[in-house]
Amino acid sequence: ASARELVLSELVTVPDFPEPGIRFRDLTPAFANPHAFRVIVDTLTAKCGAIDAVAGVEARGFLLAAAAAYATDTSLLAIRKKGKLPGSVLTESYDLEYGNDALEISPDHAPPGTRVLLVDDVLATGGTLAAAARLLTRAEYVVAGVGVVLELAELNGRSALPGQDIHAILTL
Ligand code: 5GP
Repeated sequence: ASARELVLSELVTVPDFPEPGIRFRDLTPAFANPHAFRVIVDTLTAKCGAIDAVAGVEARGFLLAAAAAYATDTSLLAIRKKGKLPGSVLTESYDLEYGNDALEISPDHAPPGTRVLLVDDVLATGGTLAAAARLLTRAEYVVAGVGVVLELAELNGRSALPGQDIHAILTL
């Protein structure tokens, strides 16, 4: 089966989670299926060009980024929620449905020009990945590609990431 078929067959939709009215797409069953997880990670890394690093967005993006960095023998970069990283950090805010949040990166763990594959589980409005991409750019890295397992097309997250090479395994 293709990566898309594997994700589709393992996808669980949870109504009213984490709040009433939200239809939450749960990908953890696909990650718990060893064959599906391997195909997902291999597909994400195959769809971008040459890379030197993989960056994952806390927390579900970490699951994918760690495996992708290991599989490609490249650097693993953690994009964390605000306040978790020590020392000098770069910070980018982004809007949530109610309020806003911020992501941070330690900019000194890879040299300028590092080619980074940016990964997360879901592309929804794109606010999260756009903030992550801004962090990578400010750190003087090159975003070589953006990879997600699931894209929710109705939320038009791609428009928040103009000019980026975005690959979604499954688009709903
Ligand atoms: P965005 O910033 O694109 O609106 O939201 C994307 C972020 O929210 C991602 O980090 C993703 O993990 C999380 N997210 C939003 N909706 C869902 C969903 O339905 N399922 C999962 N697993 N994550 C979601």
